[in-house]
Amino acid sequence: MNHYHTLVNKQKTYFRTGITKDVTYRIDALQRLRDAIRKNEQSFIRALNEDLNKSEFEAYSTEIGVVLEEIRFTLEHLRSWVKPKKVKTPITHVGSNSFIYAEPYGVALVIAPWNYPFQLAIAPLIGAIAAGNCTILKPSELTPKTSEVLGNLIEDLFPEEYVSVVQGGVEASQALLNEKFDYIFFTGSVPVGKIIMEAASKHLTPVTLELGGKSPCIVHEDANIKLAAKRIAWGKFMNAGQTCVAPDYLYLHKKIRNEFLEQFKEITKELYGDKPLNNPNYTRIVSKRHFERLQTFLNNGELFMGGGSNEVGLTIEPTVLTNITWEDSIMQDEIFGPILPVIEYEDLSDVIEGIHNHPNPLALYIFSESESIQRDVLNDVSFGGGCINDTVYHIASPYLPFGGVGSSGTGAYHGKGSFDTFSHQKSVLKQTTLFDIPFRYPNVRNGLKKL
Ligand code: NAD
Repeated sequence: MNHYHTLVNKQKTYFRTGITKDVTYRIDALQRLRDAIRKNEQSFIRALNEDLNKSEFEAYSTEIGVVLEEIRFTLEHLRSWVKPKKVKTPITHVGSNSFIYAEPYGVALVIAPWNYPFQLAIAPLIGAIAAGNCTILKPSELTPKTSEVLGNLIEDLFPEEYVSVVQGGVEASQALLNEKFDYIFFTGSVPVGKIIMEAASKHLTPVTLELGGKSPCIVHEDANIKLAAKRIAWGKFMNAGQTCVAPDYLYLHKKIRNEFLEQFKEITKELYGDKPLNNPNYTRIVSKRHFERLQTFLNNGELFMGGGSNEVGLTIEPTVLTNITWEDSIMQDEIFGPILPVIEYEDLSDVIEGIHNHPNPLALYIFSESESIQRDVLNDVSFGGGCINDTVYHIASPYLPFGGVGSSGTGAYHGKGSFDTFSHQKSVLKQTTLFDIPFRYPNVRNGLKKL
């Protein structure tokens, strides 16, 4: 019997004891997780720096801080979330009451990517624990230091039959996928998402797929240009563009093109300095393969700013390419790097059509002061989630479930969304025995004739 099979069986047996369903057990687990993260904060910051050259500021604000806030929010609300919800009962069911019980699925598999290797591993785990599941967590092999610190932390905190980290790459992932899980939560690329869904279908295991895609950012002629430039530069170049909800490309109104681009250049300098490649805290591209993939885009359109790179350090300057069309290679797939292509437009209907001709984006951003323009875009385009007059920020609100639609993903999490994702909604009707209404039964005296 292989190791993974034994591990999954151990978790199934542990889950059946019922201990993980006890709300005080869940709360205790989350509190211990929070305390251990706080205690190991410096180790995670160092690991993230070694893996991706993340600055301490980014490591805390986009990974550790986000996760601690998610635990705080969950602890504040968990006792109310776990209560059975009494719902209405129709008059036809007189005598009975109706309830919905949030029930843990059992043993969950969480597969995480490398771009926010701490946040995207722990945030789903918080939901899995809160809902009362056991969990096997497979972090990314491309960020080995963070995955190692994560593995050690979980091993010290929890018995493996409750939460366990499995290290490894594609083979480990595929070996795990041969097992029968009760829930699979995957964050990663669209092609691998398809593999996960196919594997899950063999056991009819429900899945959440947090995938990617090309997220448009529209800057309309009436936008607040200075703020738009600042908020887009922040969302695009954070983590060197390796963010699933980063603005992938810009739809920029012709009338404000020059003014916007000049502001954008200025603000990028303010945020990253004159020579970002010399900045010791500028995030690197995760691997040589991704670095080389990004290099091939640099001859698309016209170079407006940036374009420099350091092959040894695997860093690429914040870059803007203008005169881009949908035919350019940079527009074929998610970029996942600090290169921003710009498509110009005059008529918003061209923008909407351009987006419609491509898969549903994970995120969409619209910068405009006009309520009707904002409304038109929201009504006409289907996307996972997004912002009006901002970028990326929506994912940091525990009140907004975060996920994709169509090929950018299925399901959502964060805040109560995480608890719901890892819970089955069990509907129960509780009937009275004091009386019995006869009309639903067939009438034997009249045969089974129509009434
Ligand atoms: P990836 O799909 O290559 O890998 C993700 C995980 O799947 C890793 O743990 C990896 O080991 C595993 N994996 C890879 N190939 C596999 C296979 N053939 N079979 C089984 N498992 C396999 O993704 P990545 O490169 O780590 O991350 C980047 C992608 O993730 C981007 O597309 C990005 O948009 C997406 N992403 C989405 C979100 C979101 O919340 N929607 C967040 C971050 C990243």
